[in-house]
Amino acid sequence: MAERRGGGCTSILSVLLVMGLVISMVVYLSPGLDFGNVRRTVYSDRSAGVPGSGGEGYTFMQVTSRDRPVTWGCEAQIEVEVNPAGAPEGYADLVASAVSRVNEASGFTFVVTGETDDREFEGRQRGPVLIGWADEEEVPDLAGPTAGLGGASYVVGPGGDARAVGGMVVLDTEMRGGWLRGLDEEVVLVHELVHVLGLGHSEEADALMAAENSGQDAFTEADLAGLEALQEAACA
Ligand SMILES: [Zn+2]
Repeated sequence: MAERRGGGCTSILSVLLVMGLVISMVVYLSPGLDFGNVRRTVYSDRSAGVPGSGGEGYTFMQVTSRDRPVTWGCEAQIEVEVNPAGAPEGYADLVASAVSRVNEASGFTFVVTGETDDREFEGRQRGPVLIGWADEEEVPDLAGPTAGLGGASYVVGPGGDARAVGGMVVLDTEMRGGWLRGLDEEVVLVHELVHVLGLGHSEEADALMAAENSGQDAFTEADLAGLEALQEAACA
């Protein structure tokens, strides 16, 4: 007798994507405002993450109506394109290193596929995750002490489940030598990529996903627990 096997998450994902297309329901996830100077609190009401979501020391960027985190599909290859305009010297290594740190810690797989001249940071929908550099004139949310922004777009299926289908990270060119002095740009990029995966800010000040960076450069147990929760949600 032939044994019937479940389709696994890959087929569930394709069904979701198709449904998303059919109902054309793409919701843009507001990017997080990040890594501000500790003394500035004016942005606290715009910090990323759904209050009360997640677990100890982590939050989810967005949750579905079923209280599940919005994240990417199980074993998805998340395509990334880099726009090098305004990037610092050595940006390719910077991106490669940040991507590899996030992949290793999260179990998700970002794949850098090439470069682009795409600058659609805001209102970005489906497509490769865009990594780029801009100033506040181009991306107003980079104003003030914000070093970077990161987020994902996602589709919601009729059952209320959701999957990320696009995203972006933009780093502030004006932070270098300014607010960013002493702050490792790779750490900012890692933090933003984790927003793209679906984690919001942590209330724990030493977490890499804290809204403000005061020198932390490594994932804490809380950050890793959050990433594990995303992975569980993706592959459930
Ligand atoms: Zn952030």
